Amino acid sequence: MPNQDSINSELEVVSLKAPAIPRRSRLFPIEPIGVGTAYTESLTSYLNRLAQEHCLTSRTLIMREIAPQIMGQDFEVSYRKKKVSSLFANTDAKPALNGMKTMTQNLTQALEYLTQREDLKILSFLTWKRVISERELFRQYRAWCPDCYEQWKQEKKSIYEPLLWSFRDVKICLHHQCQLIDECPHCGSRLPVIANFLLPGFCSRCKEWMGRDKDGRKSTHPRDIEEIRSNITSIGELIAVVPQLKYEPTMEELIRKLQFISFVFESAVSKDLTRFVALGNIMEQLKIAVGQHQNKPFHLVKLIIPVCQRANLTLSQLFLEDIQWLSRILFEHFHLGYKV
Ligand SMILES: [Zn+2]
Ligand SMILES: [Zn+2]
Repeated sequence: MPNQDSINSELEVVSLKAPAIPRRSRLFPIEPIGVGTAYTESLTSYLNRLAQEHCLTSRTLIMREIAPQIMGQDFEVSYRKKKVSSLFANTDAKPALNGMKTMTQNLTQALEYLTQREDLKILSFLTWKRVISERELFRQYRAWCPDCYEQWKQEKKSIYEPLLWSFRDVKICLHHQCQLIDECPHCGSRLPVIANFLLPGFCSRCKEWMGRDKDGRKSTHPRDIEEIRSNITSIGELIAVVPQLKYEPTMEELIRKLQFISFVFESAVSKDLTRFVALGNIMEQLKIAVGQHQNKPFHLVKLIIPVCQRANLTLSQLFLEDIQWLSRILFEHFHLGYKV
């Protein structure tokens, strides 16, 4: 005859209590490429690769899965047959989607819900929305390095579009020392970042491969590269540093740091007037920008990057380090007595 213990364990086995099942994602939670590096994948590239993983066109993925998430109760089944431009209100050829627009936020939230991932914000520039102005920052159309595409293909790596290529000031690939291309070499089209059919590495109009073999390589003059190298590496740094940020940068914090840098510049010039040659212009610009900011984000290429260059700081130091650390480093750089 079974004892009470064996009856209890028997009962546990046949318990009808529903087991705890973790939430399932509607779409594959594929890994974004290059996270934590300057070559982090862009949001639209992730979307297009996601469509590819599910053997769908970008349009089908967007209009059947993403549109209902973004439109909520306004979504109607008839939308499924429409083109992607009807969802993005003709912003598909504009720089909006990998930048800091409301639609960037909507698209990120929809993709995070569908994949059950929580880290897709790093695929756009949303993190910097409160402190960096989007004016003149993003390209109107896709741009790409054909040598990167070709190299990844040869090495059998995933073909994708780095967020870095979305920026107007990134005109050159520093790996291959060549200009980024913004017109299809086969059909001459300029290409939107979102299209009904878009495979990374291929033209969304004529469907041709946009990589280039070695014979077609056209290098850029080293002098041209040096002129824009610091802008490209600084933008890459901002993309790479996002996963390390413990909180979103705020205007209050950035203004405090910029005011301090302005104070250091002035102290350095009053101690050694010859420094005015290097610092005069940027001191003036910084003073005006900080004095008149009215809580509007700052220009990255015209203000934040040159200020960091003159202060001998990297952008990740500016945003990752606290003001105590910056004070110590800046006093050292400018040979001022450290008193903070
Ligand atoms: Zn390249
Ligand atoms: Zn083409």
